[in-house]
Amino acid sequence: MIPTPSAPSGTWAPSTPLLICTDLDRTLIPNGAPPESPGARERFAALVGQPGLRLAYVTGRHLELVQEAMAAYDLPPPHFIITDVGTRILMDPAEGWRALDAWTACLAPDWGELGPADIATLLADLPGLYPQEAEKQGPFKLSYYLPPSLAPAPLLASIRGRLQARGLRVNLVHSLDEPRRVGLLDILPASASKRHAIEFLLSVLGLTGENCVFAGDSGNDLEVLVSPIPAVLVANATPEVRAQALAMCARAGQGDRLYCARGGFGGWNGCYAAGILEGIAHYHPDLMV
Ligand SMILES: [Mg+2]
Repeated sequence: MIPTPSAPSGTWAPSTPLLICTDLDRTLIPNGAPPESPGARERFAALVGQPGLRLAYVTGRHLELVQEAMAAYDLPPPHFIITDVGTRILMDPAEGWRALDAWTACLAPDWGELGPADIATLLADLPGLYPQEAEKQGPFKLSYYLPPSLAPAPLLASIRGRLQARGLRVNLVHSLDEPRRVGLLDILPASASKRHAIEFLLSVLGLTGENCVFAGDSGNDLEVLVSPIPAVLVANATPEVRAQALAMCARAGQGDRLYCARGGFGGWNGCYAAGILEGIAHYHPDLMV
């Protein structure tokens, strides 16, 4: 049993570089059903302002929606933003956010000559696929809504088979928007994922997974949550996601790389920013003096 870390006291004093990567919706942004503990988000903002720490938002949102959320929820300014479920890495906020072209170059071969419109045409007759709004589509991201009652596995197998037959290498990311009770499907280049984008960013920065903590809450975070990157699942995650993440970690022998926030840290409930802080304290108690 992993002990719940004790409440923070004093200031954070990192001795090694640490990249904090966090999902936004229902991880840092408290837009789920459980309440947010008062003060947790402010404490998170104070933490990531410390020297030696770098902050990356890792999200399915595109840049404009990230900026909207930053303003609406008073989120701390990040150093990097990985948008569109890992298909874009943005840096240099002072220059208006510059895309890391080397990452785009890594993704392009997976789809060859075909673009998202071509792929949509290939899938047009499959029942149960409803295109998401235009602003949620991207050059390397094709996004659909799925009825919540639909068992996704057969549909995903059909999509994968059909696209592989055309020579495309794809990553299918399925998750559930709990508050809206709708399934979400992102079709991405095989190389694109939150995990691969984080690992690429780490390599660009000359860091390893040991210099990183990732926080997430749902299906499209699972790949990172069960990877060798130290990760925290916030307490507002559904029991299904928690069970799935723990089972996948156990199978992969990564059980010590996933911390499930449970609350208690700082007197908070472990949801959203409180959970992220609880996880960081679990992996880096030495950062507290
Ligand atoms: Mg989320």
